[in-house]
Amino acid sequence: MAQAFVAERVVTPKGTRRAAVLVEHGLISRVCPVDEVPADAEVMDFGHRVLMPGLVDSHVHINEPGRTEWEGFLTATRAAAAGGYTLLVDMPLNCLPETTTVEALELKRSEAEGKCLVDWAAWGGAVTDNQADLLPLARAGVPGYKCFLIYPGCDGFTMIDRDQLERALPAVAESGLPLLVHAELAAPIDAAVAKLGEADWRKYATYMASRPDEAELEAIEMMIELCRRYRFRLHIVHLSTARALPMLRAAKAEGLAVTVETCPHYLYFAAEQIGDGNTLAKCAPPIRSEENREALWAGLRDATIDLVVTDHSPCPPEMKRLEVGRFDLAWGGIASLSVALPVMWTEAARRGFAVEDLVRWMSAGPAKLAGMQDGVGVIAKGRDANFVVFDPDTEFEVQTDKLHFRHAVSPYVGAKLRGIVEATYLRGEPVWRAGEFDSRRRGRELRLC
Ligand SMILES: [Zn+2]
Repeated sequence: MAQAFVAERVVTPKGTRRAAVLVEHGLISRVCPVDEVPADAEVMDFGHRVLMPGLVDSHVHINEPGRTEWEGFLTATRAAAAGGYTLLVDMPLNCLPETTTVEALELKRSEAEGKCLVDWAAWGGAVTDNQADLLPLARAGVPGYKCFLIYPGCDGFTMIDRDQLERALPAVAESGLPLLVHAELAAPIDAAVAKLGEADWRKYATYMASRPDEAELEAIEMMIELCRRYRFRLHIVHLSTARALPMLRAAKAEGLAVTVETCPHYLYFAAEQIGDGNTLAKCAPPIRSEENREALWAGLRDATIDLVVTDHSPCPPEMKRLEVGRFDLAWGGIASLSVALPVMWTEAARRGFAVEDLVRWMSAGPAKLAGMQDGVGVIAKGRDANFVVFDPDTEFEVQTDKLHFRHAVSPYVGAKLRGIVEATYLRGEPVWRAGEFDSRRRGRELRLC
């Protein structure tokens, strides 16, 4: 028997309208007027709620296997379900072993088995010396690669320099897969830190000064040049400095295959509001000024920035070193999976954006980056029946019981936000509804081949 998901505001590529989404065997079979729903369908009417495609987060640090005490498949996918996400793509660096070989990928697959409430996939890593592993990783089903141009914060995943990159890029180009780049170069950071001398590391201003815009600007400039030479798909992760927007816009206009993401924390917080000692707000590159934040919003408006992903990167609470409050000692990373949609909606709505924009940035955009746009990310015939039932009007205050990831630590605690994820559906069945999780753990890995 078909299911019919009915709502006043169904967000489809053809617009938002009252409609019914018919679902059979977990797939969308048709989007139609409500009066065309078959008489024997099981109808779920969500009234004035928004029915939008399940969100896709292409930037999540799940940390399993190896650092499951930081996060893990069960806790990350549970937080995802409560946040409206139906697909997470895992970053290759914080797990042990790092996802830089097919063997490590296979181990991750066996560890994920039976733990996931929503779907997942895994980026492969491009590191100092694994150029020969890149094409085998592609054949094993990764949707793309991630690399660091600077020390990534943990030792096993090695940063890649320009020479090593140039050895990797022919394989990246041949794979047709995107290379996701943490775009900061060490030289401007080392120079800035040397100038800081005896600065007070409890001050956020010290941390921000230690990671100047130039580190991002020089890295992005180098990557655009390499993209022009090697013709691969370049994706800049977590753009923080809006000063890079003109060169990114120019690279796109030139026809280079460049895409860009930013994160909710760069769009919500600003340096001026971060109290000294508040290491919960530490991430790299850093949250910058209010003026910079508004310029990032402008980058979303003109589509220089293609998508918004969480960079959900938790750690055990003690690693935030709140008792000393020193930004140089604290782990950098912000966890936000279960609140990212209301964070984005709160800020987007007040700037005149619509739910269609959220879908473009948080569903369709990341799905396309991962090459999975034919399966997920939009409400259209043939796609997986993944949905968020979203109440865009109700306000709430973030409390730790809303977080659902392993450690309820986040700079968003106490934030007053707008928009409630009432339910999340994976292939037609609820994984989160009325405050309850589905216990069946039906999430599976999505492979690109
Ligand atoms: Zn990250």
